[in-house]
Amino acid sequence: MTQQAVLPGTTANGQQTTLGVMGGGQLGRMFVQAAQRMGYFTAVLDPDPASPAGLVSHYHVQADYLDEQALAQMMQRCAAITTEFENVPAGAMFTLGAHRPVAPSAQCLAIAQDRIREKAHFRACGVPTAPYAVITTAEQLAAVDEALLPGILKTAQLGYDGKGQVRVADRAGLAAAWEQLRGVPCVLERRLDLHGECSVIVARGWDGAMVTFPVQRNLHVAGILAMTEVFDGILPAQLAEQARTSACAIARELEYVGVLCVEFFVVADASAPGGSALLVNEIAPRPHNSGHYTLDACDHSQFDLQVHALAGLPLPMPRQHSPAVMLNLLGDLWFARPGEPQPADEQPRTPDWESVLALPGAHLHLYGKLRASRGRKMGHLTLTGATQQQVRETAQQAARMLGIALA
Ligand code: ATP
Ligand code: MG
Repeated sequence: MTQQAVLPGTTANGQQTTLGVMGGGQLGRMFVQAAQRMGYFTAVLDPDPASPAGLVSHYHVQADYLDEQALAQMMQRCAAITTEFENVPAGAMFTLGAHRPVAPSAQCLAIAQDRIREKAHFRACGVPTAPYAVITTAEQLAAVDEALLPGILKTAQLGYDGKGQVRVADRAGLAAAWEQLRGVPCVLERRLDLHGECSVIVARGWDGAMVTFPVQRNLHVAGILAMTEVFDGILPAQLAEQARTSACAIARELEYVGVLCVEFFVVADASAPGGSALLVNEIAPRPHNSGHYTLDACDHSQFDLQVHALAGLPLPMPRQHSPAVMLNLLGDLWFARPGEPQPADEQPRTPDWESVLALPGAHLHLYGKLRASRGRKMGHLTLTGATQQQVRETAQQAARMLGIALA
């Protein structure tokens, strides 16, 4: 498929070329900022009047994602439309896609929204996954292979940041967990002993051209991404290459257009060279939290490439110019730390940005969320520097100053 390039500037009817995004969270905000820097106008559809992207966009359509009038407004304003939110109803993207270039497509979103379809796609691409079983009926529940226990029961749809997941030890626990999840379609995955986790961001154009960012190593704490580290040698070269090749295969087979993140588990495998192997976990059909470091450590960010891909512009191969560590800033930092006196009436306080910003190579990104709450992603901090040792040390210092738990 090809797509005529959508260029920034004034169009024949005197309007400004506008790119649209479904969803107004922080990913939408950073997309909007990248698009605006290149001279595009932007439009955001999000029901929240205080959405982080809505607050900085030229246009903010405040309505439900399936609101027909709102979709009509987006189509009328926008030359091309993307999403920042994987659970945007695929139906909305079908409607938009009938009249405007939409990337990623509704079909790709529908696959990414459903762990059952997603895993089937990985297998079809020949990319190995954790052992799993689909559970949609009581019969399937009863027939589960012992080898999948202990496991993690995950809802097929609408999970994020570890939500919609229950760890189960045995059959009785599995039955209770499925009941707790109200018997919705699920997958049961064997609980793996992880050596680590990594992800790859790939951008694919309408013409099928693909570029990838370097492989990122990710640390999750309590099911939420806490830290991403990216520098040479972060993974054995062979695994890093395999991660990139697998990510490209997954994008190609989906005929994906836009920015896609592919997340992997690193597990012990005595039969593999180097003693470890990769299993694909899941995909995110959009820029990803683990790629935020690209804003400060690469010559093109993941959001720049989302703009390029959507607008049908050439895709430059991004180059990382500095080793980087990214720390997520969760709402917990706005409240008393464990071990500190907990005030009865918890009022959010401002974290000590002044000390953190005195650190060399510290880049603060706050998403403009008006209210902090525990577990909410409020921003991130990227540390860049001349050497990996330096950025790692500074990241540890920043984590200590802010009270970020990295274990
Ligand atoms: P997010 O939206 O943040 O990516 P999610 O809710 O989609 O998260 P997963 O990526 O499936 O959930 O799982 C979140 C984290 O839980 C993983 O990154 C990993 O640390 C851990 N985890 C998930 N599945 C397994 C497994 N089978 N074995 C061991 N750990 C797992
Ligand atoms: Mg995940």
